[in-house]
Amino acid sequence: MSDDWGLDEPTVGSLVRRRGKWITLPPTHCPHGHWLGPGRVLVGHVACSGHGGGGHNLWHCRMCPVAEPPTFGPPLGRHCKSLEGPASVRISTGPEPEESQTVPEPPF
Ligand SMILES: [Zn+2]
Ligand SMILES: [Zn+2]
Repeated sequence: MSDDWGLDEPTVGSLVRRRGKWITLPPTHCPHGHWLGPGRVLVGHVACSGHGGGGHNLWHCRMCPVAEPPTFGPPLGRHCKSLEGPASVRISTGPEPEESQTVPEPPF
Protein backbone atom coordinates (compact mmCIF):
# COMPACT_ATOMS: atom_id res chain seq x y z
CA MET A 1 0.00 0.00 0.00
CA SER A 2 1.28 3.40 -0.87
CA ASP A 3 0.10 6.77 0.22
CA ASP A 4 1.13 8.32 -3.04
CA TRP A 5 -2.26 7.53 -4.48
CA GLY A 6 -3.80 10.24 -2.38
CA LEU A 7 -1.52 12.94 -3.67
CA ASP A 8 -2.25 12.71 -7.34
CA GLU A 9 -5.84 13.37 -8.13
CA PRO A 10 -6.85 11.08 -10.93
CA THR A 11 -7.70 12.95 -14.07
CA VAL A 12 -10.78 12.40 -16.14
CA GLY A 13 -10.37 9.37 -18.32
CA SER A 14 -7.71 7.74 -16.24
CA LEU A 15 -8.23 4.33 -14.81
CA VAL A 16 -9.22 4.27 -11.20
CA ARG A 17 -10.07 1.42 -8.96
CA ARG A 18 -13.54 1.35 -7.51
CA ARG A 19 -14.65 -1.53 -5.37
CA GLY A 20 -12.09 -3.82 -6.90
CA LYS A 21 -12.97 -2.90 -10.47
CA TRP A 22 -10.95 -0.73 -12.79
CA ILE A 23 -13.11 1.89 -14.40
CA THR A 24 -12.53 4.95 -16.51
CA LEU A 25 -13.00 7.92 -14.29
CA PRO A 26 -15.89 9.98 -15.59
CA PRO A 27 -16.11 13.70 -15.04
CA THR A 28 -18.37 14.75 -12.22
CA HIS A 29 -19.36 18.01 -13.85
CA CYS A 30 -19.45 19.37 -17.36
CA PRO A 31 -17.44 22.51 -18.23
CA HIS A 32 -20.57 24.53 -17.56
CA GLY A 33 -21.01 23.20 -14.09
CA HIS A 34 -23.83 20.77 -14.68
CA TRP A 35 -23.64 17.75 -12.47
CA LEU A 36 -23.07 14.62 -14.52
CA GLY A 37 -24.88 11.83 -12.78
CA PRO A 38 -26.52 8.67 -13.99
CA GLY A 39 -28.83 9.42 -16.90
CA ARG A 40 -27.48 12.93 -17.24
CA VAL A 41 -24.62 12.27 -19.55
CA LEU A 42 -24.09 10.57 -22.87
CA VAL A 43 -21.00 8.44 -22.95
CA GLY A 44 -19.14 7.74 -26.13
CA HIS A 45 -15.79 6.65 -27.40
CA VAL A 46 -13.67 7.86 -30.25
CA ALA A 47 -10.71 6.22 -31.82
CA CYS A 48 -7.49 8.15 -31.72
CA SER A 49 -4.23 7.63 -33.48
CA GLY A 50 -2.49 10.50 -31.82
CA HIS A 51 -1.37 9.34 -28.42
CA GLY A 52 -0.39 5.75 -28.82
CA GLY A 53 -3.77 4.23 -29.29
CA GLY A 54 -6.57 3.48 -26.98
CA GLY A 55 -8.85 6.25 -28.02
CA HIS A 56 -10.75 8.61 -25.82
CA ASN A 57 -13.88 8.30 -23.84
CA LEU A 58 -16.18 11.22 -24.18
CA TRP A 59 -19.01 12.50 -22.12
CA HIS A 60 -21.65 14.83 -23.37
CA CYS A 61 -23.75 16.69 -20.88
CA ARG A 62 -27.43 16.34 -21.62
CA MET A 63 -28.13 19.72 -20.06
CA CYS A 64 -25.90 21.47 -22.55
CA PRO A 65 -26.74 22.16 -26.18
CA VAL A 66 -25.74 19.47 -28.61
CA ALA A 67 -23.27 21.87 -30.18
CA GLU A 68 -21.22 21.97 -27.02
CA PRO A 69 -18.04 19.94 -27.34
CA PRO A 70 -17.98 16.90 -25.11
CA THR A 71 -15.50 16.29 -22.37
CA PHE A 72 -12.75 13.97 -23.45
CA GLY A 73 -10.91 11.60 -21.21
CA PRO A 74 -8.02 11.48 -21.42
CA PRO A 75 -8.14 15.06 -22.71
CA LEU A 76 -7.24 15.57 -26.32
CA GLY A 77 -3.56 16.25 -26.62
CA ARG A 78 -1.68 18.19 -29.20
CA HIS A 79 -1.22 15.18 -31.42
CA CYS A 80 -4.63 13.76 -30.93
CA LYS A 81 -7.06 13.49 -33.73
CA SER A 82 -10.43 12.27 -32.72
CA LEU A 83 -11.98 10.39 -35.54
CA GLU A 84 -15.53 11.52 -35.55
CA GLY A 85 -18.37 9.62 -37.01
CA PRO A 86 -18.30 6.12 -38.37
CA ALA A 87 -14.96 5.16 -39.77
CA SER A 88 -15.12 5.25 -43.51
CA VAL A 89 -11.50 4.33 -44.04
CA ARG A 90 -10.70 0.76 -44.73
CA ILE A 91 -7.29 -0.45 -43.80
CA SER A 92 -5.81 -2.32 -46.69
CA THR A 93 -3.53 -5.08 -45.54
CA GLY A 94 -3.01 -6.88 -48.80
CA PRO A 95 -4.76 -8.27 -51.83
CA GLU A 96 -8.45 -8.76 -51.62
CA PRO A 97 -9.32 -12.25 -50.52
CA GLU A 98 -10.72 -14.23 -53.39
CA GLU A 99 -14.10 -15.72 -53.16
CA SER A 100 -12.86 -19.19 -52.65
CA GLN A 101 -15.89 -21.13 -51.69
CA THR A 102 -19.50 -21.11 -52.55
CA VAL A 103 -21.46 -22.66 -49.78
CA PRO A 104 -23.97 -25.04 -51.31
CA GLU A 105 -27.51 -24.81 -50.13
CA PRO A 106 -28.54 -27.53 -47.77
CA PRO A 107 -30.52 -30.25 -49.49
CA PHE A 108 -33.45 -29.85 -47.18
ZN1 LIG B 1 -23.60 20.92 -19.09
ZN1 LIG C 1 -5.56 10.80 -28.27
